Parts: sequence; structure tokens; C-alpha cells
Amino acid sequence: MSADTATPHGASITLRRLTKRYGSVTAVDAIDLDARPGEFLTLLGPSGSGKTTTLNMIAGFVDVTDGDLQIDGRPVADLPPYRRNIGMVFQHYALFPHMTVTGNVEYPLRQRKIGKADRAAKVAAALRTVGLQDYGKRMPKELSGGQQQRVALARAMVYEPSVLLMDEPLGALDKKLRDSLQLEIKRIHGELGTTFVYVTHDQDEALVLSDRIAVFNNARIEQIGTPTELYEHPKSVFVARFLGESSLFHGTVGDPRTVDVGGRRVVAGRGDADAGAAVAVVVRPERIRIVVDPGAPPAGNAVPGRVIQHIYLGNSRKVEVRLPDDTVVLVRESAGSITRAEPGQDVWLTFDPDNAAILPADATN
Ligand code: ADP
Ligand code: MG
Repeated sequence: MSADTATPHGASITLRRLTKRYGSVTAVDAIDLDARPGEFLTLLGPSGSGKTTTLNMIAGFVDVTDGDLQIDGRPVADLPPYRRNIGMVFQHYALFPHMTVTGNVEYPLRQRKIGKADRAAKVAAALRTVGLQDYGKRMPKELSGGQQQRVALARAMVYEPSVLLMDEPLGALDKKLRDSLQLEIKRIHGELGTTFVYVTHDQDEALVLSDRIAVFNNARIEQIGTPTELYEHPKSVFVARFLGESSLFHGTVGDPRTVDVGGRRVVAGRGDADAGAAVAVVVRPERIRIVVDPGAPPAGNAVPGRVIQHIYLGNSRKVEVRLPDDTVVLVRESAGSITRAEPGQDVWLTFDPDNAAILPADATN
């Protein structure tokens, strides 16, 4: 048996200063990234930020320009894709249209010269895992989009690769189907113990699925962490805005952890910067309270604003408030604490220092 024969375990993946250049375009710029054995790692970022290129370098579909790439501690940059023991699912199903479901799922086993009885058992198991045990005789065109994508998943995992790579596999499906397949992918990950590297531009999907998320921006990784770490402690305005909603109060640092926001002194519990630096105080919309009573400012952090509009969402209400510097911030009031704030009204916005972080101002905001 050769070293790349399938073994049912999750491999580690190590990227060091991994780089891809296309002429003058740097698609991936010297990134460092580790996937732990059996981890669900998501590459999240806007379109064009380098996610697919990174995934394709791991898979071997794209040559590495520079840097190191290892799977289970073994350099693989010079190995062809089929010797990396990797399964891959793409956004578009890429099933063989002239083969049945069974034929599609069996294909990688035939390529690997697995015997007939073994093939039948493995195909049956894979189809069971994705809930399609009764669909083996169908042709791809006789299946819905969600079912076709399950077949693609069964085909990618049938030979028990130690890494499964998925590039926006739910991107072509409608929201309801996406939600149910997300849960299914999460369950399958738990059952297989395989390392998953999953690409998406959908923050909610990343939060639902991932053990850890690497946030891509402009060919680099901005931050890597668990969903909670990224949501609670974003290190940049980009990450704060990309993962969930954020309200930004722009100002200038005075004392450490204190920011002058339009003449109001605001204290933040986290982050700091040099005196005089232009920064943003970042607060999650659900952590801001509106005080509608006019008059003296409330104690603690309080910034004045004028309500633009509100949007009722059933279990919450979103309120848009314009600050004196024309920044618009968002406040999310939960069902039990919806205020009387109405469009045109002058209000105070208050928040605890513990819920506020000072981050470097981002030129793009
Ligand atoms: P993402 O998957 O995050 O949307 P990609 O990895 O596809 O981003 O692309 C990253 C950058 O590399 C983009 O600017 C894209 O235009 C460029 N790029 C990707 N593939 C090629 C290619 N084959 N030739 C030239 N430029 C490419
Ligand atoms: Mg892509």
C-alpha cells in the first residue's frame, strides 16, 4: 500500500507564507494557517479575497508560487491532486450527467481500483450518510439541487479522504435548503472525524458550522479564531463589520481607553491606541441602549444622535441613528426593551465600557 492510501482520520494542514501570484495580481499573499486534525475550519471573506485560490492550492488544482504547504507534516506542493488524499465539493454539483447516483459515488472507488463488493458497501454507506440510500438508480437530472449536492458530498467522502475541501457548496441553493444542509454537513463532520476546510462568504454559515474561522481580506488573513472570539473580540473594524453588525463611533484617543467622540468622552473596556490616534469605538448594536428622555446626558458613555428610522423585525427592532458627524449607527432593541424612539427624535445612545472596544480606524469606513 502506498502512503496516500485512504485512512479514515483527519489530517493536519499547515500553510506557511503560502503565496499565489498571477502576473502582477497577488491572489494569496504569504498566509500562515493551520487546520488541526478533525477540525472544521472555514475560510470566510468577501469575493476576490483569495479563499478559492487558497483552497485550490491545498487541493493541488493551483500551483503554489511561494511558501510551504504540508498535509500531516508532509510537503505536498509537488504532489498531484489525486495523491493528496483529499475530497472536494464545488459550488456547482459537477456530477457526471450520464451516470446514475451510484455510478457517480462509485467513480472515485473505481479509479482507486477498489473491488466490487467493497465498492458496493462503501457507496451504500456514503449514500446513507447523506440520506440518499433510496436514490442510487436515479440520474442527476432527476434530483433537486440539494440532492445533487448531497451526491457530490457522498462522492467526495466515499474513499474516506483525510481532508474534505468545500468551496461554497451551498451557494447555489435557496435559503431554506441551505439552512438544512448546513446542519447536515455539521452532523456529517462530527460523524467522520475528517478535517473540513470550508469556503464561504456567508458570515452566518461560517458561525453555524465552524470550529474556527479565518477571515480573509485582500489576499491576507485578518484574524483567525473561534466564532465567539471573532464576534466578541474582533481585532479590526473589517472583522467587526464582516462578522455580524457593528456600530462605530469615530473619535480621537485621549487617555488610554478613552476616546473623544464629537466632544463626548467615551470609555472602552478593550483595545487601546496612542494618544491622538484616529480610532473607532466598536459596539455591537444589541449592546447599545437608547435613552429617549431629553435633557442632561445620562451617566457613563453617552453619545447624542437623531433617529432616522426603525424597522420592526418581530422579535427585535432595528433603529438607525445619525450621529452629529453624520455617521449612521445601528441599535438593536430586543422585544422586551423596545423604546418610544421615533424618527426625527433626538436621543442619547449609551453603552457599557465592557461592551466597547477601541480599534484602529479603517480607511475604508
Ligand atoms: P475568492 O474565492 O475569495 O472570491 P479568489 O481566490 O477566486 O477569491 O481570487 C482572488 C484574486 O485572484 C482575485 O483578484 C481574482 O481575480 C484573482 N484570480 C483568481 N484566479 C485567477 C486566475 N486564474 N488568473 C488571474 N487572476 C486570478
Ligand atoms: Mg471563491
